[in-house]
Amino acid sequence: MKITFLGTGGAVATEERDNTSLLVAQGKFLALVDCPGGVVQKIKKAGYLPQNLQAILVTHVHPDHIYGLPSLIHSLMLEDMTLELYGSSASILFCQKLLDLFQLRENKIKCRVRFKELEPAEVVWLTPELSLTSMSMNHHPSSVSFFLAINQEKKIAYSGDTPPDENFFQRVKGCDCVIHDCSAPSRFFELYPQLRMMHTDALTLGRLAEKAEIKRLIPCHFFGEVQFSLTEIIEEIRAFYHRELFVPEDFSSVCI
Ligand SMILES: [Zn+2]
Ligand SMILES: [Zn+2]
Repeated sequence: MKITFLGTGGAVATEERDNTSLLVAQGKFLALVDCPGGVVQKIKKAGYLPQNLQAILVTHVHPDHIYGLPSLIHSLMLEDMTLELYGSSASILFCQKLLDLFQLRENKIKCRVRFKELEPAEVVWLTPELSLTSMSMNHHPSSVSFFLAINQEKKIAYSGDTPPDENFFQRVKGCDCVIHDCSAPSRFFELYPQLRMMHTDALTLGRLAEKAEIKRLIPCHFFGEVQFSLTEIIEEIRAFYHRELFVPEDFSSVCI
């Protein structure tokens, strides 16, 4: 499986980093995880074709994770294809309303979206080898994290936006790869304590990831509204976490 980071930033984009979204490719299967702006161009830049997308996984419906959905479907309006959209019931309802605002569920739109609400313990088979499960998260009423497993062996998790969550880290104990909210170094969370309810700082992430024995940690969703260097992020994570660490740039990819 190859995961490409179409964006690695938080809600405020920078010159280098746009809003976080991921592309998951396994054989012919192609899924987009969250849908901020410009994904058609980004998917092409990453070497894939938007018309080969089969699924969209929505972590939650904050604008930086979903505002590009109408544009994606509009750009696929001549393609006779079906996209499965997975998310919480709140995300599904929101996405339906968002598409209806632009009349993007009418017959003239050849690209159909099939909505699949994820139940907490439900296992969805995306391909014969690739399974998807989800877990509710506290960041937003629509929030879920995603757990992918290849042949029930290799396990990959994506937290979406989240405050530090002990339940999530219990669930991912020993996981091969965890992609996690790492919005800023801890000093910003001391300056703005309300951030602790919504996001995770680098120091806490390193501590929880080490405790959960995660084999490979990928921090992302870096804030663009405050100034810090990646060195600061890495040093804070490394204060506790001593296993494999990959800090992605936009268009970085990892093979799992
Ligand atoms: Zn976000
Ligand atoms: Zn959010």
